Amino acid sequence: MTSSFSIIRYLREVLFDQQRPCFLLLDGEFRLLRLLGDADYYGYGDLVPGDDCRDALPVLIGLTAEEAIHLPMVETATGRAADLLLAPVAGKLGLLLTDASRERASRQVARQQANEVRLLHKEQQKLLLELRKARDELEIKHRRAEDASRMKSRFIASLSHELRTPLTGILGHAGLLTDPQGDVDAVSESVRVIESNANHLLSLVDNVLDQASLEMGQLVLHPVPLRPSAMCRDVQSMFGPLAKARGLEFRLHRRGSSSAWTEIDATRLRQVVINLVGNAIKYTDRGFVALILTWGQGRLEVGVSDSGPGIPASARERIFMPFHREQNAGGTRGTGLGLAISAQLVELMGGRLELENRPGGGSVFRFSVPAPAIVPAIRTKGVEDTSARRILLVDDSSDIRALYTRLLEKEGFEVDSAADEPEAWHRFEDKRPDLMIVDLYLAEWEGSGLVRRLRGRGYNGGIVSWSASSLREDRHCALDAGADAFLVKPVEPSVMSATLNEILRRGSGTAE
Ligand code: ADP
Repeated sequence: MTSSFSIIRYLREVLFDQQRPCFLLLDGEFRLLRLLGDADYYGYGDLVPGDDCRDALPVLIGLTAEEAIHLPMVETATGRAADLLLAPVAGKLGLLLTDASRERASRQVARQQANEVRLLHKEQQKLLLELRKARDELEIKHRRAEDASRMKSRFIASLSHELRTPLTGILGHAGLLTDPQGDVDAVSESVRVIESNANHLLSLVDNVLDQASLEMGQLVLHPVPLRPSAMCRDVQSMFGPLAKARGLEFRLHRRGSSSAWTEIDATRLRQVVINLVGNAIKYTDRGFVALILTWGQGRLEVGVSDSGPGIPASARERIFMPFHREQNAGGTRGTGLGLAISAQLVELMGGRLELENRPGGGSVFRFSVPAPAIVPAIRTKGVEDTSARRILLVDDSSDIRALYTRLLEKEGFEVDSAADEPEAWHRFEDKRPDLMIVDLYLAEWEGSGLVRRLRGRGYNGGIVSWSASSLREDRHCALDAGADAFLVKPVEPSVMSATLNEILRRGSGTAE
């Protein structure tokens, strides 16, 4: 029995199939003598004896073959990769090509994989970096949130003190006022203390409400025509005497047009300026406080500087955080909300509140906001109808009804009041008032509903809606229902009177 399997044949097949050998016998001038093997595979099938093989395989140019030369991965005429062995063979040159395509392919794969690994590594580094950055940011946010919550807790803890101190003054002096033996000086001193403490309480409540509105994105600006020079005068008359009383020099520098008008939320701008100048006076013991107002090229720049203790560079950022108070605040009254609110208001107005250190001590707060020059519409004063002054005041608080009845009567109005909607309708039918003041939140009735029903029945007198809430929705709710104006309690008698007179002057129906 003969075996059909031959190792030699197998090896030859393997060698020929896989290595695709091609042998070229050349003379010393690289001319072809004989060609054996798979020449077509490499693109040399057309070579004939005598051809200079350096034309077909330029890699041979310049080579001598005194001893065997191995050139791996040579590119052949068909673009295949071949391992080339050039060796002297019996006084001639033997050139053996074997296929290296697989190796080239696997090298390519390896190179590609190495590239992919490198890319992956790069990507991994990038991701790690981003991860570290995100972790750092998160840590900062976390620390800030902790700081904010610590400051809020400290504020709430001190709120009780902040509320009780003025209340103690108010209640104590109110008690003294009931003393029939009190002389005139003692009475006026008690009134002064009550007023000052009540104002402090009011600013505390205003600040807390403003901060809450800002946090909820509820605070909106109401630009109105303003003469910056008039605002300067107001600030001077408000703070000049106060600075003097504290032995400080109050400097006011105004640059730019003095009589021109701009359009801006004057109340909020004033609030920021008052806070900055108020702080400067509060925290400065000697020297000066200066307000510099520059208006031109559509921007209003405000700078407030003082010769006080200044603010350390390390506190620059946290000074604008709500509820934050620095050590230098000492026993001075404050909620730590003024600067936070001011910074947010300036941002709403399109600027940025910045703090600089003044060379030689003290601090400088500066901001600039858009303030275009405008020509205000000339308001022709309508004729005030002095006979149309009957007011119906609807409010569920008997104290408020009694207080504003007295205050408005002093302003020359004839006031009637009601505690709820049924009583309001009763009085309304009876008196037919020219003006109505309606609380937005009556105990069981929606004040806005009353306003809507009044308008629905054709009432075209003036309606002022008011509320202790300063939320934007409340303002909208009141004005949508048909009120001519919306005011936030407590309302200065002069402001109430001016609002009522304005409504009388222009006639009802135009919402503020
Ligand atoms: P408040 O005055 O109610 O404490 P603010 O937010 O207005 O709150 O100010 C925060 C803190 O910044 C103050 O407690 C005070 O320490 C510091 N500060 C503000 N203005 C000045 C100033 N002009 N000079 C020195 N310190 C100031």
